[in-house]
Amino acid sequence: MSTVVVLNLASSGHVNPTLPLVNELVGRGENITYYSIERYKQDIESSGAHFRSYSHPDMVEPRFHEGGHIGVMAYLASAALSILPALLKEIKEIEPDYILLDSMCLWGNYVNQILDIPCITFSSIFVMHPKLDADRILDMSYGNLPSSTILKGLKALHKYFQTSQKIDNEYGCISPGLIEAFSNQHKLNILFTSKILHPLPELFNDDMYKFVGPSIAHRSKDGNFLLGNIGTKKIIYISFGTIVKPDIQFYQDCFEAFGACDGGESPYQVIWSTGDKIDLKKIDNIPSNFDTYSYVPQLEILQHVDVFITHGGMNSTGEALFNDVPLVIIPQRGDAYLVMEQVAKCGAGIGIHPADVNPKSLRHAVDKILTTPSFKSEAGNIGNELRAGGGYIKAANEIQQFKLVSGL
Ligand code: UDP
Repeated sequence: MSTVVVLNLASSGHVNPTLPLVNELVGRGENITYYSIERYKQDIESSGAHFRSYSHPDMVEPRFHEGGHIGVMAYLASAALSILPALLKEIKEIEPDYILLDSMCLWGNYVNQILDIPCITFSSIFVMHPKLDADRILDMSYGNLPSSTILKGLKALHKYFQTSQKIDNEYGCISPGLIEAFSNQHKLNILFTSKILHPLPELFNDDMYKFVGPSIAHRSKDGNFLLGNIGTKKIIYISFGTIVKPDIQFYQDCFEAFGACDGGESPYQVIWSTGDKIDLKKIDNIPSNFDTYSYVPQLEILQHVDVFITHGGMNSTGEALFNDVPLVIIPQRGDAYLVMEQVAKCGAGIGIHPADVNPKSLRHAVDKILTTPSFKSEAGNIGNELRAGGGYIKAANEIQQFKLVSGL
């Protein structure tokens, strides 16, 4: 049995895939302390780990970061500066044999440098590779974003320099650059996706990278979702995840594209998870064939869905393809453009740039997917590969094997 600390970002997209893995590792005897925020306490404790809260006043709910890739780095650095003193003290007391570390967890990078504790990295996003050059990263991250976001990214760069220099001076660390900040590369790196979806898969042939597919298990808090009698209607599921707040125009566009109006019929039944950042009571013209919720049991719903309109979050995308569901992707941040490109390249979905979203483009994309069988079959091909990855069980096996060969 080993003593383990999990250092992760505090958002559903990062926490969800770790829960089945943590549960599996606890079942195999590991004693796990998991750092997060109160919102995930119950989920983490249900997985069998001990919950510890990050002592950071700002870290009370998942954040949407302006300024793209570098905006995220600036936020993570300022969070690291604030939580490191208490975190370092507590981890020294816990004395973990190893740390399970999210690929984007910047404070984990510092903890590793300062305390020299072995780390195993897991990743719920596409991973940066050290061989990538920064030009290419900047192009991938900012090439599709509006100039206002790029400007915010430049301001964030200044903030990142200021904060990371403070950390380096105080703790004698070397803060990571553009690529390392999003890879946290260690001797074992577990990716919750598959090579078929990952950009530049040829860079990840080394044995240190293990592609295990999405880490999916029934979420006990989800319960059962009852679909009413929908007859022959096609089911569209819409969700922009747990962080992004879609603008109100997007709602109106979807109502116009898919809504039954004036007592008429629609060939679609729409299930919409709006997230908790919008007040559903303020929307008064929701069509009768739309069922809206602030949160739904997504894994359950995806088993019944014909097409998923998503922001291209890595988890949502992986979970949909795991269930052979084709996608319409409307990216809302840098990494989702990559997801959109990969899915479109594989023929499992259609991307719409946010500026091109309107009732016509939405309806066109959905109808094309519903009337062209190859979208479903390509989603199924990727689904086969994702399911073959082995998920959290394979991840736990890899960790066990790694512990054996490295004497952990
Ligand atoms: N999710 C869910 N119900 C919802 C909305 C989201 O269960 O109503 C889950 C979804 O299954 C996924 C995660 O929240 O595991 C969202 O992660 P993703 O990476 O797709 O997007 P993010 O929220 O990080 O932007």
